[in-house]
Formats: sequence, C-alpha cells, structure tokens
Amino acid sequence: MPGGRKSVKTAAATVPEFPGLLEEMTIEEIRAFRPEVVVLPLGSTEPHGPHLPYGTDAWQVTRLARLAVAAANARGARALLYPTLPITNNVNFRKFPFALRIGVRTLMQVIIDIVTQCREDGIRKVVLVNGHGGVSATIQAVMREIAGMDDMPFVCTPVNLSPPGFKSPIEHPSIHGGESEVSRMLWIRPELVRKDKLRNNPFGKVKVPVLETYADFVRPWHLHVPASGGGETRKSTAAKGKAVIEAAAAAMAELLIGLSKATYSKSFPY
Ligand SMILES: [Zn+2]
Repeated sequence: MPGGRKSVKTAAATVPEFPGLLEEMTIEEIRAFRPEVVVLPLGSTEPHGPHLPYGTDAWQVTRLARLAVAAANARGARALLYPTLPITNNVNFRKFPFALRIGVRTLMQVIIDIVTQCREDGIRKVVLVNGHGGVSATIQAVMREIAGMDDMPFVCTPVNLSPPGFKSPIEHPSIHGGESEVSRMLWIRPELVRKDKLRNNPFGKVKVPVLETYADFVRPWHLHVPASGGGETRKSTAAKGKAVIEAAAAAMAELLIGLSKATYSKSFPY
C-alpha cells in the first residue's frame, strides 16, 4: 500500500481509515458514499539517485492525495481517491535501467479512458494530481483533448502544489532527487532513504546557457542528472517534508471541497 498511514492500526480500527479511499471500500460503501469528485494521482517508477528508491514519486503523490482527500471529506466533501498510476512518461530516462515508461500518447489514452469511465459511473469532476514532472505536458494535453469532447467530465489539475504565500523550508531546491524529495521521503518512508548516501549530486551543464533560462526542452536525464538524482541533500529532514506535504494537502483539500460542493451543469465551472 503506497503512502498514507496504516489502514489497520488495531484489530478494532475502522476500515477504511477514512471514506473515499476506493481501494479499501466495499461495493456497498461506495454506493452509499455517492462520490462527487474523482482524484487520480499520477506517479512514476524511476531512479532517484543512490539515496532514494524508484517508487519515490508514487509514494509522495499518494501520501499527498490521501491527506487532501481525508481532510476534504472530513469537511463534507465527497472525493473518491483512485489508486496511483505508477508507470507514466519517462523516455528521457531511457539510459537508466528500469525507469518504467509508457508512451505519451499511450498515457493520454489511459487517462482519457479513466475519465470516460468516470462519466459512465456518474462522475462529473475529475482532479489529476501530478507527482512526476515528466507528465505535466501530458496532463495539459489531456485536458485540451477532453475539453473538445462532448459530455466529458470537467478535468483540472493543481498547478502549484503549495498554497499561496507558503514559505518553503527547503534550503536547496532541486528538480529531482534533492532536499525536497529526500525530506518528504524521510517523513513518509524513512526506512527507504539511504542516509549514508546523502550528498551533493551535480547537474550537467548545457552548452547554451540561455536554454536553461529562456527555453524549454526535454532533458536527457543521464546528462542532466548523471547520478539520477541531483542537488544537495544533507539538510533534508522529516519535519521539512511533513511541512511541505501538509501545506500542499491543505491547499488541495480546499479545491476538492469547492468542486465537491459546487452544482454541476453543462457550463461547469461557470
Ligand atoms: Zn521524483
């Protein structure tokens, strides 16, 4: 079970831990729950340097989504959390072993199929939660594609996982496998962090610096982050990871509450 607190704390504990956790609900419970919003987290299975496991993105986005859905549903929302997609887009990781990947168009179709089934199950609002930078463009493309299809659910994605004004405690930001991800994993699954391997892993340099400051391109990861995870990681702490994830979950809970309580119409969200 990726992410989240343990569902069964004692023999007498309530299962599922909170309403809206599809994988732990029964058919009777799901019918009674009458979900209003579906939350689909997208993770990845890919190397994160010598210090973090391949499942880092999936663990993180699952924990984030679980916290957000639990908080939203505790305040009257009816958000249904789907299992995290663990294999997504990673062609730029292909020089690393077992960086699991499906094609961009394949993933687009997978998401479209899932959203289509949401419609068949009566869901009109879907939130895609991005746990992997490699799928950002795919999510955007899916939303564009779905917006052109008749009678599909409304689909959105949080573009900024921190609430406005949030002051991040991360001292050494990194795009991949750095202090932020290590801190989050120290909170979520500390036993999976290889603490003896924490160091400053360098990034590759491009020949044309303006590419980094002005343009966008797909980085071959073995050249961009030769160790497969980059940046200074020795200031990572579980407290920083907890602060970052809890702030993001609080912001996402507000989105889920708003979507859940808003009445759907053909012109939604207007
Ligand atoms: Zn990651």
